[in-house]
Amino acid sequence: MTTVKEIIGEMTGATPEDTTFVEKAYEYSKKAHEGQVRYSGEPYFVHAAATAKILAEYGMDATTIAAGLLHDAVEDKRVSREEMEKEFGKELLFIVDGVTKLGTHKYRGAERHAESLRRLLVATASDIRVLIVKLADRKHNMQTLEHVPEHKRRRIALETLEIYAPIADRLGMGKMKSNLEDLAFPYVDPDAASHAAEVRKLKTQETEDGLAKVQKELKQELAKKGLTKFHSDIRMKGLWSLHQKLKRKHDDINVIHDIAALRIVVPTIEDCYATLGLVHALYRPLPGEFKDYIAFPKPNGYQSLHTTVVTPEAGIVEIQIRTEEMHRRAMFGIASHMSYKQLGKNIEKLGKNVQKSRFSALSFSWVRSLIPSLMKISKKENGEKTVTKVPPWLAELAEAHTDIAGSEEFVEGLKEDFFSHRVFVFTPNGDVIDLPAESTPIDFAYAIHSDLGDHLQGAKVNGKMVSFETKLGNGEVVEILRRDSAHPSTKWLEVARTSLARRHIRTALGMTEPTKPARRHHRHAAKNKS
Ligand code: MN
Repeated sequence: MTTVKEIIGEMTGATPEDTTFVEKAYEYSKKAHEGQVRYSGEPYFVHAAATAKILAEYGMDATTIAAGLLHDAVEDKRVSREEMEKEFGKELLFIVDGVTKLGTHKYRGAERHAESLRRLLVATASDIRVLIVKLADRKHNMQTLEHVPEHKRRRIALETLEIYAPIADRLGMGKMKSNLEDLAFPYVDPDAASHAAEVRKLKTQETEDGLAKVQKELKQELAKKGLTKFHSDIRMKGLWSLHQKLKRKHDDINVIHDIAALRIVVPTIEDCYATLGLVHALYRPLPGEFKDYIAFPKPNGYQSLHTTVVTPEAGIVEIQIRTEEMHRRAMFGIASHMSYKQLGKNIEKLGKNVQKSRFSALSFSWVRSLIPSLMKISKKENGEKTVTKVPPWLAELAEAHTDIAGSEEFVEGLKEDFFSHRVFVFTPNGDVIDLPAESTPIDFAYAIHSDLGDHLQGAKVNGKMVSFETKLGNGEVVEILRRDSAHPSTKWLEVARTSLARRHIRTALGMTEPTKPARRHHRHAAKNKS
């Protein structure tokens, strides 16, 4: 069982108040879950403590770690929300509530809707810390998945692979991503998983000694150039990512050179390029294999130099060169920005190692890609103003980046708000349908199938009959009742929000000329691509 000392030991820059807070949450959670057991037969509290430790390892603040300790206590009716707020404050309750809410959205195996579900989860998480707690929770659940009844394992593993690992990836949390993938892989495709493990083992045995020699040689050469403050390690490719690559390369192991890579972590960006020069002087690089992710970071913010060289000792080897800061970010992603803030604005100091504008402009472009339309204050005809709100965690992210970069463009980008313009609803089978905000059952029916729209007779939301004008809300389950004799009416044109629905309605009504949509829909009508 994870002790409170172990959790606190992982915390960086914790004040005595932080420590006390976490200790209190630890004892409280232990009591709350007393008598409750996991599938493994272990006390339930083991899960809470393990989740908290993962959060501490990711450099999260005391509130988030404490929320990790208590994340299941309210849902399992062990503690009331009122009591939790009284004991641990609003902020903690807010995170716990968020985690509980996320838990209600489940993946049921429709790959085509995976992206919508990912977006739904991100939209539901009103605070980025909610997502991070959820990822930590998932990691420990995956570590203990073997104890879960067999019929549940595959769904949970698939959900991890299709939903949570991609979210971790897009938040730049590379370590979390590959952990989740490799924990899930054997449950999703046992044969492929053992094949990948076999391939990796063979390759490792082949190159292990050689790589150690290369590592030693490089160390000596770097020292000769005055580079002594660095460390290097051998990083093994994750099994799931190896599996993906094997599929792409038609199972030809000989064209995969990054199963084992040598990673060199140096103090500054200048050192990165100097090291690269040295590597290329020592070993012949393979043409076309060099990638400068420092000058051109990946969309999730990942930075490093990658090169593949021919070594006499280990054959063809991939070498990755990065700064300490890039290394931390590659592992912890967005979480590492959270901990910056907490560590007392060391940004200036850290900033020297970061290529400021490039980093800020390109990282988190996924978050931005969720946000297609501009935040704006639009004046309605009656003079009333509507302000599109930015979710607080996005705004916070924007601010964190102003600190690091002061990139106006980036902040502008973040002000664009996707979430307040979309609504995510479920079919009775659990497929997620992604619609413009204020969509109605009519839009939903047409989004599923034109025939369903054309014969829409009635609609249920969360099991209750509703009118066609009903505006759908995030996470609602919508069921459409169909009857052959049911047909669209002109009134539907006013109610439908998507151009897709309106187009079908007009066709069904035999209108050749598109009618002018009702004024209140006009602005959206022009914008709708669905
Ligand atoms: Mn949990």
